Formats: sequence, structure tokens, C-alpha cells
Amino acid sequence: MSVTGAGHNADLIVINGRVQTMDDDNPAAEAVAVKDGAIIALGSRAAIEELKGPATNVIDAKGGSVVPGFIEAHMHLFSGGAELAHLQLTGIHGFDALQKAIRDYAPTRPDAPMLVGQGVDYTVLGSERVTRHHLDAILPDRPFCMAAPDHHTMWANTKALEMAGILQGRRFGPGNEIVMGDDGLAAGELREGEAFGPVLDLAGESRVRLGLATGGEPDPMPTAAERAADRDIMRRGLAWCARHGITSIQNMDGNLYQLELLAEIEAEEGLPCRVQIPFHYKNFMTLDMLDKASTMAERYNSEWLSSGMVKVFYDGVLDSWTAVMVEPYADRPDWVGEPLFTPQQFIDLAVAVDKRGLQIAVHSIGDGAVRAVLDGYEAAQKANGRRDSRHRVEHIEVTTTADVPRFAELGVIASMQPPHPPGAMDFPLEPTVSRIGPARWPLSYAWRTLKDAGAHVVFASDWPVSPIDPILGIQAAVLRKPWADSDPDQSFSLHEALAAYTVEGAYAEFAEHRKGTLKPGYMADLVVLSADIEKTAPADLHKVRPVTTICGGKITYQA
Ligand SMILES: [Zn+2]
Repeated sequence: MSVTGAGHNADLIVINGRVQTMDDDNPAAEAVAVKDGAIIALGSRAAIEELKGPATNVIDAKGGSVVPGFIEAHMHLFSGGAELAHLQLTGIHGFDALQKAIRDYAPTRPDAPMLVGQGVDYTVLGSERVTRHHLDAILPDRPFCMAAPDHHTMWANTKALEMAGILQGRRFGPGNEIVMGDDGLAAGELREGEAFGPVLDLAGESRVRLGLATGGEPDPMPTAAERAADRDIMRRGLAWCARHGITSIQNMDGNLYQLELLAEIEAEEGLPCRVQIPFHYKNFMTLDMLDKASTMAERYNSEWLSSGMVKVFYDGVLDSWTAVMVEPYADRPDWVGEPLFTPQQFIDLAVAVDKRGLQIAVHSIGDGAVRAVLDGYEAAQKANGRRDSRHRVEHIEVTTTADVPRFAELGVIASMQPPHPPGAMDFPLEPTVSRIGPARWPLSYAWRTLKDAGAHVVFASDWPVSPIDPILGIQAAVLRKPWADSDPDQSFSLHEALAAYTVEGAYAEFAEHRKGTLKPGYMADLVVLSADIEKTAPADLHKVRPVTTICGGKITYQA
């Protein structure tokens, strides 16, 4: 293998690796050389060692895989960073276990104005729905709330509901609901962000949630101390990404404030990951407010910090029947969900955003939402002409035969999350599979079907909805099993799954000529793994850990 593009001493070389370049023309190498933030050569160990000078940092991969840095195509950095400090309830089942977890945690946060738990299953109490009374029995005297893994439902105790002023109920916009009990008071279950916002705001993390909740800016502007605290939350999230081998983040909530915090970190010490922050357009906004999206795109357009995207929620989630379906829910035959935008509103929005040359990414879980969003993209193409727009549909948990080919036809990216199918990782089969119903199973989480139909499929975790670890996502994609024998196999090969976290991620941000593969001249974004993933049994993939993460030629994580 020849060494190309080399000249002077490398800043850093990685030797003794099983380099998987993801470049079809030159798929494998033993070693990589990096200089000035870019890859300068790939080749044999001997060839690369010729580029070693007295100051070159040498990393011995010890036979482990070396792959392009992971590109996380759908995540929430600010809230993820904040949640690392919350009570983690993933995997807790039954009242006793829930009680123990909460009672053990509460004394460790004596000063917290609101105790917050994360990741609790909808079925934590079996078929019984959680109410404030369950939580009161566990913790009556301090406000407590806990979020479902999908972050679309929260449950709060009476104290929390009282303090938030919503015990008597309150009306919100479509899809957002305080579930009321037979006694005329809130039952404890809060559906979607507007409904649980008042409770979560008491946790003192309202700035963290702004990018998701309203897309607006902090008001009043944070003090210097608050800004510093928020930068630390961002830093915690960024470090969490780097330790999982991530070098690029496509964030899926945002505002100007997040960009400013990240720019401040960049100025202070440099960013450990490249970050794209979108403008979040909500259904109460007017189209002229897209000026801000254009401003964000103009102001932030570097290789480290960028914008250029408008994020939208079209529907909710299956588990709370807030996802929008074409046909009624299998377990609720009179209900198809309620969209957050009317189809025409969304068409107008898609046309307006597309006209500005910005990319659109829309949360669309139900097949009805997916269809409406594709209709919007089609209308934008008709109105503004076809261009390389790479608009995205996020999640696509259910779709239809009629809509599958439209992704390729319209040049739309399918952004999907291998940890999300019920039964694949942390999410239980029920209630989701019964909501969907067997008739729709064949086209649920159908990334294989979409890819075979020519769509670009990009993978992500949706952290903190699922664990951020891309290797867990790759494993889930490879091990994906149908719910019924008659359903099609939706699994990906290891190479395809890896591509969905690298090559396709780069494509999704118009950067496939600069990152996502290891090639001379490309950004030096790579990760050294603890073992050769190609030689690892799929069931053992989760044991493979990032050992060294390199972003822009700098080591951002070292085990
Ligand atoms: Zn998300």
C-alpha cells in the first residue's frame, strides 16, 4: 500500500491498528498519520513510521479497530449533559425497586429544589399506570418527578404538582396534556413538554430545556455565574460524547444561547467535538421568525460550530398515543393522534425554510406524520425547484409501503435510532408493539426496507433518550430481530451499521468530502477501539470500548 500526501513529520501516528477507513477504494490499512488536524497518510506500519519525527505522538492501537470518529446524527447535548446528574431509573421494575432507588437518591441531594429521575419504563409498575399516589407513597414530603426513556411523558408526585401550580390541571396546545384523575385533580402523568415544563422548571434547569421547549432564548439573560454553570453542563455532555468515540454532533434542539455557550468553550479551550445546533421552530411561531434561523446559519458556519438546520416536531410518540398515524392505533380504534402542525401549516413551513437554503429535520414517529412531512418536502421541491437539500425525517418508527420509495425520490434522509425498537435495547416490547399492531410491524423501524429502497439511512442514539454509545447502537442494528417470524429482517451488517454512524452522518451534514471516512486530506477525526470489531462476535460488540478518540488531530479522550 502506498503512502500518499505525505511530506513532513506527522503530529500524531496511530500504528498497529486494523484501520477500517470506510473508503471503498482503500478499505483497510495498518496505520494512519495526522498533521495539522488532517489525515496525511494511511498505509502499512512501516510506511507510516517513516513519517515519525522527534515530536510525533505515537499511539499503539494494539490490534484494535481504528474507525472514523462517530457522527451522532440526532442527540440533545445540553439536556443530556444535565441529566448525567439525575437519578437513573433505567432497568428499574416494580414498586419496591422504584421506592428503593428514589429513597436512596433523595438524601444525596438535600438541597435540590426538585428531584428528577430519568429513564423509567412506562411499564415500571406492570400494567398499572403510574399516578402521583404511587410517588407520594414513596416520597411525600419533597417534590419528585421522573421521565420516561423517550422524554415525552413525566410523572410527578403531589408536592411537585402543587409547587408547579398544575395540581388542578391546565390546558395546553395540541398533544400536550395533564392527565386528570377521577377526583378532578391531576393524576400525576404529564404528556409532552408543555405539560411537564412547569414541573421541570422547578429543577432549576429551565435554560437547559429552552432549546427543546420553546426554541427561545433565556429571559432574563443569564448572569455570568449561570453562564459558567451552563458551560460546565455543556462540557460534561461533550466529554461524555468524546469518551464514546463521537467526534461530530448533530444536535436536535437549539437556540442562539447554546451556540454562544459552545463558542465560549471553543474560545477558552477548544471543542472536543464538532457541533451543529439547529433553530427549533415551534407551532406557535410565525414564518418571519425563520430570520433567526438564517442569522444562526450565517453567524456559525465553521468546521467546529455550525447551524443551518431547522428542527421541527410534527408529532409525539407511540406510547402516549401522540404519534400521528394514517390508520387508528391498534389498541385505540377511534384515535389516530393529533399533529402539532396542520398539513398545510407544515407545507408552508417547509417551502419557507427550503427557500432560505436551510436544511429541515422533522420528528415524525407515526406513519401519518412521516407522510405529511414528505408531502411538505415534495411541495417545497415543487415551489422552489429541486436542489441538493438533504431534508431529513427523524425516527420514522412506522411508515407505509406507499411512502417508502418517496425518500429516495425526494432525496430525503431517513434518520433512525437502532436503540429505539421495542425489545432491541432498553425499551420493552409493551405497550408499543400493541399500539402499533401486527399489521404495521413489517414497516416499523424499517431501516433495511428504507435503505434497500435507496434512502440514505443515518443512525443515532437520540441521547439522552437512549444511551449515547454508538457501539451499542451498532450492536442493536446488527442483532435486530423481527417481532414476528413473518416480518422482514431489518438488521444491518456491521459495515452498514458503521457506515450509518460515519459516512452517512457526514452526508447528512453535507460533509462527506471532509469527514466520515479516513482518507488523506480529510479531517483527523478517528477513534481507536479496544478490539477488532470485525473479529468480535455480534453478541460481544458491547464489550468493545473506545480507547482513544481523536478530533481534529487532538486527543479528546483516552481510556
Ligand atoms: Zn430527539
